Amino acid sequence: MRVAIQGTRGSFSEAAARQQWADAEVVACREVGDVVKAVREGRADTGCLAIENSLVGSITPTYDLLQEAFGDSKLYLNREILLPVHHAILGVRDGSLSQIRRVLSHPVALGQCRSWLSQHLPEAELVSSWDTAGSAEIVGRENDPAQAAICAAHASQAYGLKVFEDRIEDDPTNQTRFLTFGSERPATSSTVPQKTSLIVWLDHRPGMLAAALQAFAARGVNLTSLQSRPERSAPWTYRFYFDVEGATEDPRLAEALEGIEALAARIVILGSYQAWQHEGKTASPAVMAPPQQRPKPNLPLFDRAQRSEGTVVRVGSVEIGSGRPVIIAGPCSVESAEMILETAKAVASAGADLLRGGAFKPRTSPYDFQGLGTKGLKFLAEAREHTGLPIVTEVMSWEEVPLVARYADMLQIGARNMQNFALLRAAGRSGRPILLKRNGGATIEEWLHAAEYVLAHGNDQVVLCERGIRTFERATRHTLDLNAVALVRERTHLPVIADPSHAAGMRSIVPSLAMAALAAGAHGVIVEVHPDPDHALSDGAQSLDLTTFARLAEKIRSGEPRTAAL
Ligand code: PEP
Ligand code: MN
Repeated sequence: MRVAIQGTRGSFSEAAARQQWADAEVVACREVGDVVKAVREGRADTGCLAIENSLVGSITPTYDLLQEAFGDSKLYLNREILLPVHHAILGVRDGSLSQIRRVLSHPVALGQCRSWLSQHLPEAELVSSWDTAGSAEIVGRENDPAQAAICAAHASQAYGLKVFEDRIEDDPTNQTRFLTFGSERPATSSTVPQKTSLIVWLDHRPGMLAAALQAFAARGVNLTSLQSRPERSAPWTYRFYFDVEGATEDPRLAEALEGIEALAARIVILGSYQAWQHEGKTASPAVMAPPQQRPKPNLPLFDRAQRSEGTVVRVGSVEIGSGRPVIIAGPCSVESAEMILETAKAVASAGADLLRGGAFKPRTSPYDFQGLGTKGLKFLAEAREHTGLPIVTEVMSWEEVPLVARYADMLQIGARNMQNFALLRAAGRSGRPILLKRNGGATIEEWLHAAEYVLAHGNDQVVLCERGIRTFERATRHTLDLNAVALVRERTHLPVIADPSHAAGMRSIVPSLAMAALAAGAHGVIVEVHPDPDHALSDGAQSLDLTTFARLAEKIRSGEPRTAAL
């Protein structure tokens, strides 16, 4: 294997090449551009270039070169190499550290030894050179006891120098990432983890970079690096370098790339290649995950026959779907830190299992209170700290799933979003239990198939919530469909709870409906509770005050026998 490197004998690029191909024949090149030339002209089989250092970051000449060299000709990345990098300071054989006035090295290496240099040689002039080993060569040739080089300790033999001190890098975990490339497209492997690198040019408009990132995120493609470089011909505009897990053949990545191609002004795919594998580390599951199109199971995953004993959903230490009815309580919206804490303390001492409260609110009118957003999530988390109650809160869009999942123990998908399929898919991947409300206009079949999306995306922790459907009746906000509660228990193994508050829209009948739902077989209830319902910012009319809720909770806890089923 003839490997072209930037640098000379004893350089880290050589060490990287040899780490991969022990008997590599090294073609030493002065500039990064010469490495590409050597491969293009057939003087080397592979080029090997440093792209990033774990201490100092991007090696920008390589990024710029990738753009220039790969943009218009057929070169392909084929491998990633991670090399542990330890630096030594070298000088002439009979010299000593105290004589050093000038230190030569590659600027990236000088950057990696900044602390050591300022501590031990604060007065020394730091001189940038083209290569670490190349500086050792100069120090050896000029034989000046006032000069030292920073490079690998093993370069001392090649240039007749002495190691003054080894391992002077600022952090012992220091390592450099190299990429290798050739003029042939490598075969991608389905057993070794792959990475893909690409460059994207985006129009200078709000949301363009976010849209490109979302193309990956929506398909569960993991991003490992994102860099930007200035576009020389257009000041203050940038091109973006993405590294993602997976190969272009991976259906999910292929789909994401298709989306980005349609979005971007220009895209260059630098190639898919073997990701570096640490010893003992196996392929990450993200790379191997099945494609989007799922094989249809013989029976829907929600079907009772899939798990006749029933599913128990766990939220913290709370079990939903076991014998004991679960009580979820809290305000419609989180209105302030004090208000959610007061409510949380009251419902906790009344016997609630979970705290509810909306931070992102789906409101019928855009002029109504829309929730406190992220602040609301933080207030909920504080209330959990004080009371120990796990929290359930609504997430309205798939983009916000990671944010809400960071704070919430359970994610609520509201009635209006029951068939938001991107959200259901993201909920499936979220790793959090899901409370899936029934849309007021949805059939039981549609509701169960919405749950199927979450199940099919790998999450069996789904609780169904009946919250009233739209009927001809206008005396109440909606009609609590107890048929559905009883029937869904027959049709699915998933737990089902009822939300009498949104069904009724008036607080006076909420306790009766709650008891009726439990009698129909609901595994629990979710009830809106507010310290001052008449002044609530949302859904006050249907919210119980703290005392009424405490009476309801007591009734539920003492209610034996609970279900009317024979
Ligand atoms: C809520 O829980 O406050 C809510 C908005 O519910 P739904 O989605 O059932 O209307
Ligand atoms: Mn509400």
